[in-house]
Amino acid sequence: MVKIVVRLLISMAIGLLLQTSNVWAAELAIVIDDFGYRQHNEEQIIKLSPNITVAVLPNSPNAHHIANIAHEHGNDVMIHLPMAPFGKQPLEKDTLYPYMEEEEVDRIVTNAVALVPYAIGVNNHMGSLMTSSQIGMENVMKALSYHSMFFLDSKTVGKTAVREAASLYDIPVVERDVFLDDKQNEAVISQQFDLAIRVARKNGSAIAIGHPHPQTLNVLKHKLANLPSDIELIKISQLVTPLTTESKPKVTLKYILEHCINQLEDAWNFNNNLNK
Ligand SMILES: [Zn+2]
Repeated sequence: MVKIVVRLLISMAIGLLLQTSNVWAAELAIVIDDFGYRQHNEEQIIKLSPNITVAVLPNSPNAHHIANIAHEHGNDVMIHLPMAPFGKQPLEKDTLYPYMEEEEVDRIVTNAVALVPYAIGVNNHMGSLMTSSQIGMENVMKALSYHSMFFLDSKTVGKTAVREAASLYDIPVVERDVFLDDKQNEAVISQQFDLAIRVARKNGSAIAIGHPHPQTLNVLKHKLANLPSDIELIKISQLVTPLTTESKPKVTLKYILEHCINQLEDAWNFNNNLNK
């Protein structure tokens, strides 16, 4: 019995420790994409934290400059690669289509790498049509395999061919969990941010994607200044693991608390059995 009480006390002490330390914090990565058109807003976003990841449209007027500024500030830089959507929308130059030849896709990807210095990965701009196409995404992954990049699936459509295509070329893949600002309304963006936190607590980590809108900037300013102590803002690169490395389940506050509760239940049952 004494042994069990000691174990319980240790578990509870760990639980308390967690409330004041972020050693086992759940991880939240925030990627702000569509960079390259709104320099003022983009610089403000970069200034918020070096742990915010920025994704730059390669053919935007300010691509090279803003990628350099982000890198100098310590932020992870990604290429926001334009891909064809199902619907009719204004498209970026060099938007990728499933019908394109392998050589054409390779030319566009190689250009994008040259236009966005310091990029370590890629996420899709739009792309509901392109990312659904197995052959299209195989061409993209093949082109990316020459540049040691990972792929963040923005998930602009329910089912994509990203993972399957990437696995053929050993390209690491991560996926977006929450879009912050589909609605450019601060109350809604704030709710989406809280949703990302809940996902991070549940899964150990979460990836949220937003855009350089003034409303998003305002919400991020407030939310990041008041981040709960069990949540850590991290760079996207911290969530990317090579495919060959087995990922370990992450120890989160929820995991530890559940562990403590299990131990309490065990002790309770043990005590009841003794008294029978
Ligand atoms: Zn975009």
